[in-house]
Order: sequence, then C-alpha cells, then structure tokens
Amino acid sequence: MSSSVKTVVRAYQNYVNGQWVKSSSGEMFPVYDPSTEEVIAQVASANAADVDQAVKAARSAFDSGPWPQTSAAERGRLLYKLAEKIRQNAAHLAEIECRNTGKPIVEAEYDIADVATCYEYYAGLANKVLGHVNPVPANALSFTLREPVGVAGQIIPWNYPLLMAAWKLAPALAAGCTCVLKPAEQTPLTALEIAPWFEEAGFPPGVVNIVNGMGEIAGAALVAHPGVDKIAFTGSAAVGKVIVKSAADTLKRVTLELGGKSPNIFFEGADWEAAVDGALFGVFINQGEVCSAGSRILVEKKIYSKFVESMTEKAKRIKLGAPMERETKMGPLVSKEQYDRVSSYLEIGKKEAKVAIGGGRPKQFGKGYYVEPTIFYDVENSARIAREEIFGPVASVIPFDGEGEAIRIANDTPYGLAAAVWTRDIFKAFRVVKALRVGIVWVNHMQPTYVEAPWGGYKQSGFGRELGPWGLEEYFETKQVFVNLDETPIGWY
Ligand code: ADP
Ligand code: MG
Repeated sequence: MSSSVKTVVRAYQNYVNGQWVKSSSGEMFPVYDPSTEEVIAQVASANAADVDQAVKAARSAFDSGPWPQTSAAERGRLLYKLAEKIRQNAAHLAEIECRNTGKPIVEAEYDIADVATCYEYYAGLANKVLGHVNPVPANALSFTLREPVGVAGQIIPWNYPLLMAAWKLAPALAAGCTCVLKPAEQTPLTALEIAPWFEEAGFPPGVVNIVNGMGEIAGAALVAHPGVDKIAFTGSAAVGKVIVKSAADTLKRVTLELGGKSPNIFFEGADWEAAVDGALFGVFINQGEVCSAGSRILVEKKIYSKFVESMTEKAKRIKLGAPMERETKMGPLVSKEQYDRVSSYLEIGKKEAKVAIGGGRPKQFGKGYYVEPTIFYDVENSARIAREEIFGPVASVIPFDGEGEAIRIANDTPYGLAAAVWTRDIFKAFRVVKALRVGIVWVNHMQPTYVEAPWGGYKQSGFGRELGPWGLEEYFETKQVFVNLDETPIGWY
C-alpha cells in the first residue's frame, strides 16, 4: 500500500481551461477518510462566479476552440489514450477511491477497471454514429446530422465517484460536447486526480472542466447557468426535482438517474444458495450505497421463514473491516451525514418491523462510519423502510403469496429503477419481467452492470438512459437538412 494519500493532506483547486484555479472566495472544504474520520484533502469550494468561469471556458472551447473541428475518429483516439493511462494507474486510483469512499479495495479495483472500460467503449463508438436519409416525397435530399448538444453540466454522486464521472464524460466527449463536471463534495478526489490527464491525452483545454463544491451552491449555479445546454444528473430524487424546476427557466436538456427502492423477488423453487447469495449481494454490495440496491426483498410465503433464516446465517459472515484490507467485504458509510441518515432509518425500522440481524453500529469499531448489515423482516410495503431510499446496508424483507401479489407489491412504489426475479420457471420469469415497471430487470442475478446495455429508470427514478448507444444519444441534437434539387422557383406568388 502506498502512503502518499494516507499521510499528506493534499489541496486541490478547481480545474478550468486546463489550469488549476483557486475559488474566487479562497474557500476550501475538507474531504474525509470515512474509516478514520480524518481529513485527507482540502478542496476549493466553487461559488457561482467560479462556475461561471468554468462554463465560459467550456463555452468557448465548444464555440470557437479546435474541438468542434476534431473528427469523431480523433475523439475516439483521445478517449483510448485516457483509458490507457487510467489502466496504467489503476492501483493508485483504486486506493484513492477506497480511502475517500470507504468502499472495500477489491470493489474499488473493479470500479476503476469499469472506468477504463467505459472510456474504451465510447472511444470505439464515437465514429459509429450514423445519420439518416429521410424518404421525403420531393425532388430533394433530406438527411439528418447528429450534432453535439453543446456544453454539458454533469453532477454526480459519491457512491461510485470516478465511475459516475466516466458514465457522464465518456459519452459527452465521444459526441463532441464540452463538459463542466461537479463531483460530489464528499468524494471529489479521483476525478481531480485525473483532471490533467485529459489534456495529456490530447483533449484541448476547456473541453473538460471540474468545479468542486456544495450542491446548493456550485451545483445549483451550474443548473441555472444559461451557457449550459444540458444537465446530466445522478443523485437523489429530491435534488432531481429541484434540478428540473431550475432547468425549466432556460429549457436546457435534462437527464436524471435518481434513486430506487428496487424489489428483489424470490419464488419457491429458485436455486437456494444462489438466491440467498443474490439477496445479500443485491442489497449489501458497496455498503448498500447503490441506486439499484435490492432493498425490498420479496419472498414467497412458502419459503419465507427459511429464507430469512438462511439470509441471516449468511449475513453473519459478512466481513466488516478497514477498506484497504483485501478480505473486507463491507467498509464504513461515506460520511457522517450518511451515517446519521441510515442510523435514523434503523430506529424507524425497529418500530415498523422485526430485526433478523444488525440494527446498529458494529461494536468492534471505535471510529469510522460503520453500520451493521441489517435485515428487517415482516415488513409491510407501506412502511417507511419499504418506501424510502435508505442508501445503506438495510434490507426490508416482505412476504408475498403468489405471482400476482409479488407484481403488485413490486410495482407499488414511486420508483422504477431496477428489479430482479429469481425462479427456475421461465414462463413465470418472463411474465414478471414484462409486468415490472422498471428500467432494468435481472433474472436469477442482481446488479451486474455493463457499459454495453442501457441504464436508467421508469417513474420517479428519472428519465433518459446512460450507457450503450442510448447514453451517447443523450448528448446529440438532431438536425434535419433539406436540399432542394428542383431548380424551378416555388411559384406560389
Ligand atoms: P446525497 O444527499 O446523498 O448527497 P444528493 O442528491 O444531494 O445526494 O447529491 C448528489 C449530487 O447532487 C452531489 O454532487 C451534490 O452536490 C449535488 N447537489 C445537491 N443539491 C443540489 C442542488 N440543489 N443543485 C444541484 N446539485 C445539487
Ligand atoms: Mg444531498
């Protein structure tokens, strides 16, 4: 383990137009290691004036810089170069990610590999975007051009910091946009670490800008800014609603990837070991700080008691520990704020349902924002712990009687991000798949996420899709071009 991050409290500024820039107020905010509660970095806190500077840089890189003349093939090459540098420095980035988020190092390593894969995917896709020839009934040629939407403002959460940055930046850059990224204030370090790598790879200055700061200040300024053409946001539904209202004033394009309360549905006859494993993995991976967490575990009555028992037995073996230790399967939550939020749900849950395991702070840790993996059972779907996104290692197990009731409970939520169904009956599996009002359904698995396949939600889980060609689409405008081939005048007047 290198000690570079451990011992030095580094200072990071905002990254604008290829330069490190202090915030105009001079203000900084602390960034923590949630396992030790120690400050590991100080980061410039951007205000509206700083955001304005970043947007102007992105604006001029888009409107008058060399970027719009860069071919799609060249944009792809630059993205490949960036991905290569990320792969070469994967261990370093994984360590920073691990220390800043508290996630287990092994998971952080997977995340960084996924980051590189995401840039590589969009590198390859950049020059495979095609327009259409439109069969208009005229002596004319009608076709479409796919043009970048312009300056993209991108606001991301703290659960997968560098990966969420990649999901935003990679397709935007492939499309030819310029970007102002605002990382979550809890976890800006990996994005800042790679900020200069964009220019090193050959991206012109101003194409990628990073502003740090609080959501209500820096984030809100970005959303309101008239120089921003599109906002891509991943975060809470509450903030998503604020963003849509603010973006209405300038009618900028908005895509939202919000929260969920995703059902993970288990029928009698499902492979027992795989199912129990899948129930735990679905809700406890990344400390449960996952938008698609399978936090509502729906279990058919015939197997319910035994299933809760098996889950509980297996959950006892989840190894909580220091994030940098390779055997650790669960680290601390990301912040004091998140620890308090999850702890308050644990108290609510104890009043609403029964506790199978967990329910508090693990005794072995003197410091760090650790929470026990917690399983509530006999949960009513109307309970707060079944309706509200907790974003922590908290499972609500709900019994159901038959397929119809499973579907009804699964869909009885304002969210619609993801779901999973476990059964060996393929007829039942596909009936349930079709009935679920969600953007992602896994059958006999939960959480596998690949850049080739679309990601996004129904209902209050947001709109727009990320990843795959769908993610690229969101960064294009469509221009219709009509070329008259008939040299005679219109002759109307
Ligand atoms: P959490 O409460 O778990 O931190 P949020 O949805 O508040 O989740 O945060 C996700 C991202 O949205 C972060 O980058 C945060 O700074 C940003 N954010 C929070 N509030 C606003 C806001 N009013 N306008 C724009 N961005 C915001
Ligand atoms: Mg918030």
